[in-house]
Amino acid sequence: MSSRVSKLAFIARSAASYAAFAVSVTALGWLALRLEAVPTVQIRPWELESAPLIVVDAGHGGHDGGAVAGGLIEKSLSLTLARQVRDHLQDLGLRVKMTRDSDVFVELEERSKIAADAKAAIFVSLHLNTSDTPSVNGIETYYAEQKSLAARRVVKGTRGRDASEMLARSLQKQACLGSKAEDRGIKAKNYAVVTHTSWPAGLVECGFLTHAEESAKLKRADYQASLTRGIATGVTDFLKTQPAQTAGSLEIPLRIENEEEVKVESKDP
Ligand SMILES: [Zn+2]
Repeated sequence: MSSRVSKLAFIARSAASYAAFAVSVTALGWLALRLEAVPTVQIRPWELESAPLIVVDAGHGGHDGGAVAGGLIEKSLSLTLARQVRDHLQDLGLRVKMTRDSDVFVELEERSKIAADAKAAIFVSLHLNTSDTPSVNGIETYYAEQKSLAARRVVKGTRGRDASEMLARSLQKQACLGSKAEDRGIKAKNYAVVTHTSWPAGLVECGFLTHAEESAKLKRADYQASLTRGIATGVTDFLKTQPAQTAGSLEIPLRIENEEEVKVESKDP
């Protein structure tokens, strides 16, 4: 082999080594960037087994329009918000079932039955509020003061006695944080959908249609997104407080010492 050929071979080998080195450096850099981009691994309880099912209930529907004020009709806005809550929850890896996904009338008992049949882990109902006083505004969340006898009978354990109250607190907190609306707090009242549901159930009154500023905000897509993302966060915050368990075993009714049937409000709000 001439010295000229061996020199060329040496150059070729060196070039190949440099190329291999450059590829390695690039690969390492890429890997480092990838590792940096990977968020902290968080295994949520519901990712270990099947995801809990959340029933999202849009208040009213069909011939029952609910409240009408501020150019809004409750049955339409509650459905718009419910669909957004569903989407956020699904993005978070949860399963969702709606009690209605169109403008149809669904009996209150049927809404609870849908949740029971689906073995829902959580029931969230969405409504809009009105007041004779135009200055009243803000969000409030209801939970059953006492679950109905039928709802109490399907309960399986003794943990989390006040689960519905905890859920309501979580929904209320995150809905207000997300929307920056006035926080009117949580309230115990035996509205049918939360009373007849065996599992943690909350009813969010998402704002007052009779308050000019609030009803204007409720029409805005960005406000709806903040509000509904807050409600979804309220659901996941609550789930994080619950030990990993199968859907349907979360709830313990409130005040189980009273074995008498409870009096349910004749209508949901
Ligand atoms: Zn309503």
